Amino acid sequence: MNLSLVVPLLDEAESLPELCDWIKRVCTANNLTFEIILVDDGSADDSWTVIESLRAADDRIKGIKFQRNYGKSAALNEGFKAAQGDVVITMDADLQDSPDEIPELYQMISVEGYDLVSGWKKVRYDNKLTKNLPSKLFNAVTRKVSDIHLHDFNCGLKAYRKKVVKSIEVYGEMHRYIPVLAKWAGFKKIGEKVVEHRKRKYGISKFGWSRFINGFLDLLSISFVGKFSKRPMHFFGLWGSIFFLLGLGMTIYLVIAKIVLPDFPLTNRPPFYLALVAILIGMQLFLAGFVSELVARNAPGRNAYLVEDKIGL
Ligand code: UDP
Ligand code: MG
Repeated sequence: MNLSLVVPLLDEAESLPELCDWIKRVCTANNLTFEIILVDDGSADDSWTVIESLRAADDRIKGIKFQRNYGKSAALNEGFKAAQGDVVITMDADLQDSPDEIPELYQMISVEGYDLVSGWKKVRYDNKLTKNLPSKLFNAVTRKVSDIHLHDFNCGLKAYRKKVVKSIEVYGEMHRYIPVLAKWAGFKKIGEKVVEHRKRKYGISKFGWSRFINGFLDLLSISFVGKFSKRPMHFFGLWGSIFFLLGLGMTIYLVIAKIVLPDFPLTNRPPFYLALVAILIGMQLFLAGFVSELVARNAPGRNAYLVEDKIGL
């Protein structure tokens, strides 16, 4: 099979038939064998009934239904596990991403050798203030932290080599950082393609203001996990030592001052409390470091080592 289309959806019943027809039209015209995996992320409308009837009419359409709403990342993750095509393309269900982009994305992976190609909504049809501006900021920060030069990390339309989706785990709200996850898993050829963005035809956007807070918290944890998850002591130990030494230095100064000048006021001065707090913080960080080392060492090493190739096995 050439192609798996993974489509996460929440309350998108009206869009689904149109989306599937369009995908089928494009794939058939380009001689691509494909499957469409519709992941119903706990819809409250009749999305699942629609999926069942689409499936009854065409067995290239497959469905996964969540018990409740787990979020777009979880939906993508399940879709990725099920995907069988050599190339996997994700797209939103709301018809904002155009299936007309499929053939070129497929080419970029299968012929040009990209591991991941991210869509870039150069012209967007969303609210300027609540979406476009924050998204510019978000992308700039992510570019800096990850050192991956994409304009639009959060674009729902992306194409992957099968091996990429099988070796990453998308959880929380990490769908915004899949290129970062892919890079850390060792996939280097990450590209970008300008894609057409369309107005939402039916329904409403599913992400509110919380997207910004959650997005930036995830960025923090992802940069931490990427750097230090296998060696947390290098992070906690460094800062622990800095604080501890600072506190120790101040304590020594206070003790010497007290010995040299018997009238030296000790406990009612700021350095005394600073020294106390610094030593405590330093020790806390060390303890956190030891505990995380224990956790890291005993954690099942999923994705710890990605085997590039095998011979004679
Ligand atoms: N979606 C999902 N689970 C959620 C939220 C959204 O599967 O908890 C799907 C949604 O149905 C759509 C895609 O993710 O197919 C993108 O969502 P939306 O269009 O609301 O985001 P926006 O385009 O406004 O950024
Ligand atoms: Mg949308």
